[in-house]
Amino acid sequence: MSNTHSTKVAFIGTGIMGAAIAGHILDAGYALTVNNRSKEKAEGLLARGATWAETPAEAAKDADVVFTMVGYPTDVEEVYLASDGVLRAAKKGAYLIDLTTSSPQLARDIHDAAEVADVHAFDCPVTGGQAGAEAGTLTLILGAGEKDAEPVLPILQTFGKKLFYFDEPGAGQTAKLCNQVSLASCMVGYADALALAEQGHLDAHKVLDLMASGTGGSGASASLAPKSLDGDYKPGFMAEHLRKDVALALRSAQDAELALPGAETAFALFDTLCQIGGSRMGTQALTLLYAEEGDAAAAGLDWSLLDAEPAEDGCCCGGDGECGCGGHGHEDGHECCGGHGHGDDHECCGGHGHGEGHGSGEHCCCHGEA
Ligand code: NAP
Repeated sequence: MSNTHSTKVAFIGTGIMGAAIAGHILDAGYALTVNNRSKEKAEGLLARGATWAETPAEAAKDADVVFTMVGYPTDVEEVYLASDGVLRAAKKGAYLIDLTTSSPQLARDIHDAAEVADVHAFDCPVTGGQAGAEAGTLTLILGAGEKDAEPVLPILQTFGKKLFYFDEPGAGQTAKLCNQVSLASCMVGYADALALAEQGHLDAHKVLDLMASGTGGSGASASLAPKSLDGDYKPGFMAEHLRKDVALALRSAQDAELALPGAETAFALFDTLCQIGGSRMGTQALTLLYAEEGDAAAAGLDWSLLDAEPAEDGCCCGGDGECGCGGHGHEDGHECCGGHGHGDDHECCGGHGHGEGHGSGEHCCCHGEA
C-alpha cells in the first residue's frame, strides 16, 4: 500500500475541502480517479492529471483506497450504501475512508457492512479548515486504531499533519462533533464580544488583540473574527455545515439524555443565519445577526425570510424546492439539513426529533412547527 506508483486512489467529493486534499494525493504521485456530483468542481484536478469517473462506484471499483469528502450524512449514505454505491463496487481488501463530518452511527453502520464485504472502512473527519486543506496540514480524527490505519498512513500524511486515533468506528465522528460544539460556542462568544465592543464604541481590532493575549480568545476568534470585521463572508466553512454538525451533536446528546445548552444556543443562531439566506456564507457571517438590518441586507441576508410561511411539509424549504438548509435540492426522500428523511416523524436539521428533548421545536429550521 505504501508504494506510491502501484497504489490506486479514488476521491469522491471534490468541493472546497476535497479538491484541496485530493490535490495533495495527486502531488504525491498516486494515480488518482475522481468523482463529484458536478464535474466542474473536479476540472482543476483533471487538468493536473486525475482521471474522471462518472459515478462513485466507477471511481471505486479499481481503487486500493477510496476517500469520500461529501457534504451531509445523506450524501455519505448514498455514496456508500446505495445499491450502486462504493461498498458494492469496492475490491476486496480496499480501504474506504470517509473524511466528511457525518453521523457516528452511520460510520458504525458502514464499518460493519464493510467488514461483511471484506473491505476496510473507517471514519476520519478532519479539522483545520480550507486553509489547512490547502496547506496539507489538517488534523485527522480517526475512528480507527494506529494498526488499522497503518497501511494507508503514507497517503493520510500527504494532507494530514496530526493524527488522533479514537480506535472505534464512529468515534472519530463523535470526537469531531465535540470539536464542532466547542467551535460553535466560541463563535457565539466572539460575535457577542464584537457586538458589545461596537456598542461601547471600542476599536474592535484592539478588543480582539486583547482577547488573544488573555483568556477570552479562541482559534475561532483568531482566524474568523478578522474576516467578520472585514465583511468577508466567503466560505471557508459554510454556515449550513456547522449547523449540520451542531445538529448531529445535539442528536447524540439527546440520545444520551444529555443537555448541551451552549450547542442549543449556537444551533438556534446558525439556524437563523441559514434561514435568512446565509446557508452558503462562511460561518463568520454569524456576526451579521447582530448587525443593523440594512447592513445585513447589503451582505445578502433577508430577515423577512424568517417569518416566511414554512412549506407544506413544515420544513425549512423556502417553498420553491430550494431547501433553506443550504440549497441542496429536495429529492424523492425529501431530505435535508443533515441527513434524515422528513417523514411522519418529521425529523429535520441533523436528525433530532421534533417535540422532545432539547426544545428542538423552537430551534429547528421548521419555524417552530413541530
Ligand atoms: P462542499 O464544498 O459542499 O463539498 C462537498 C462536495 O461533495 C461537493 O463538491 C458536492 O458536489 C460533493 N457531493 C455531495 N454529494 C455527492 C455525491 N452523492 N456524489 C458525488 N459528490 C457529491 O463542502 P466542504 O466545505 O468541502 O465540506 C465537505 C465536508 O467536510 C462537510 O461535511 C463539512 O462539514 C466538512 N468540513 C468542512 C470544512 C471546511 O472548512 N470547509 C472543514 C472540516 C470539515 P456538488 O457541490 O457538485 O453537488
